[in-house]
Amino acid sequence: YQVLAGRSTDEVLQLYAAHGQQLKLQRSSLVTQLHGAIKKRLKKDLKSLHSFALELSKDFQRQSKTCLYQVLAALQGIQLQNEAMQMFQIKAFDLEQSLQEVTERYEKEKQKRRALHNSLVELRGNIRVHCRIRPLLPFDDAAGHSISQDRQRNFSEKVAYAADDETVLVKCSRPGHASVNKTFQFERVYNDSESQDAVFADVAPLLTSLLDGYNVCIMAYGQTGSGKTYTMLGPQLEGNLAFSTEEESELGIIPRATQEVFRLISEKPPGSYWVEVSVVEVYNNEIFDLLAKDSYGKVLGVRRDVVTTREGKSDVPLLTHETVENASEFLHLVNRGLQLRVRHPTLVHADSSRSHLVVTLTITTVVFGDNFGTLWEDEQTSQRLNKEVSCTFPQKMRDNKSTSSSRASSPVQFEATEKMKQVKTRLQLVDLAGSECVGMSGVTGAALRETSFINRSLSALADVLGAIAEQRAHVPYRNSKLTHLLQDSVGGDAKLLVMLCISPGQKYLTESMQSLGFGTRARQVQRGQVKKKNFPVPSKAK
Ligand code: ADP
Ligand code: MG
Repeated sequence: YQVLAGRSTDEVLQLYAAHGQQLKLQRSSLVTQLHGAIKKRLKKDLKSLHSFALELSKDFQRQSKTCLYQVLAALQGIQLQNEAMQMFQIKAFDLEQSLQEVTERYEKEKQKRRALHNSLVELRGNIRVHCRIRPLLPFDDAAGHSISQDRQRNFSEKVAYAADDETVLVKCSRPGHASVNKTFQFERVYNDSESQDAVFADVAPLLTSLLDGYNVCIMAYGQTGSGKTYTMLGPQLEGNLAFSTEEESELGIIPRATQEVFRLISEKPPGSYWVEVSVVEVYNNEIFDLLAKDSYGKVLGVRRDVVTTREGKSDVPLLTHETVENASEFLHLVNRGLQLRVRHPTLVHADSSRSHLVVTLTITTVVFGDNFGTLWEDEQTSQRLNKEVSCTFPQKMRDNKSTSSSRASSPVQFEATEKMKQVKTRLQLVDLAGSECVGMSGVTGAALRETSFINRSLSALADVLGAIAEQRAHVPYRNSKLTHLLQDSVGGDAKLLVMLCISPGQKYLTESMQSLGFGTRARQVQRGQVKKKNFPVPSKAK
């Protein structure tokens, strides 16, 4: 107001205006300052935002690149896998095709093998005779009291030898007797040191024929003490036969053959084969079922009969057949049958040399109807087997008790298809009664009866082999229960092996000559037949 005092209005107004102007200027500089600060701040924020966004986008780029690589790698992997899959598919297809070809070839080869094997077996003769000479044993020395020391020494002298593996030489000169110097030829001759293994090696090919659909019979012929039971079963008849390591090498043909049959079956498709066993004894022209049980399950020898069926086959009605699934089960059954002979001497017979023992393995093959004709290449066999088809299931199969085994249960399932057929083949293993020529003079009662039955059954066997050899229309199978029982595995295209057992001592000369004569006659017949079939004669038929 001092400044204004004394001033004119205009001057005052001018001053006011100047003051206003000054204020205005002051305000605007403040605003400018504020604006600058804001701008600065904004710029800074924007910059950091920008760098953050830049960082974010870089990060995003990095990550998406990694993902892309991963996707690409996965894609590549898939592509590779696809290619590999395609390769595999092609390979699988190729393999499938070659498998089919191999299967077809295998089927053809199998049929060829079967035909060849049969020709080979036929070449050796459907009846072949082998001869085994046992070693001299301590009991060969024992002779009657009335015999002089000199003669006793001669008794244990060896007169039968294996000259080579096809020839038996019997050489003996005794004072007061014509000297003997004779040779006999057989398909195979075993000397006294040849093992059970060696004997079985020649038997095994017959078992291949068995699974090819042929019946097979292996019988031991010879006098008492010549080694029949040893050859067929093993060294201890009374003891239990078993597949234990220490005794296995001593086992005879019967346990070994069973083992081989199960081995051959194990190579076939499961469920297509099963095996039943029967054990019978033929004594005084009667057949005893050694596996029959009474209602309490106790084993007893029951008498049975042999009949001829409408198809012309031999059959024993009601005979006990037990299904077995391995060789041990089989041996258990055979032991049971053999022990019965010991426990019931009156019912059957205690002295094993006085009766014929027949162990039969019946092999049932399951074949489907459509395949049946092609399974066996040659028409004849196929037709023959078709005729043999039977509709009976073994008891165990019908009851379907044996659920534990696929082999046992499969046939039951097949039954429903109706296309299934069964073929039965038989392996008969026979330990014949002693063939010694016991004279009838001085023998009376039961012993006479027994002797005459043995003589009759063995001569009936010789007659049957003779008739087969001569190809006679009528073969007298029914002349004895023994031959009737063995009919199907002796005649026709069945394969028979006669194992002649010979004691080498001079004491048994007569019996040995008789056995060798029996074997020679059985063999001659077959040789004639082989020639007729125009088979080339093998240089060494073994
Ligand atoms: P078979 O049954 O013919 O009456 P065995 O088989 O019982 O005769 O044999 C009589 C005896 O001779 C038995 O003690 C048996 O062990 C023995 N034996 C038989 N063959 C041989 C052989 N090849 N090697 C050793 N011992 C044998
Ligand atoms: Mg015996």
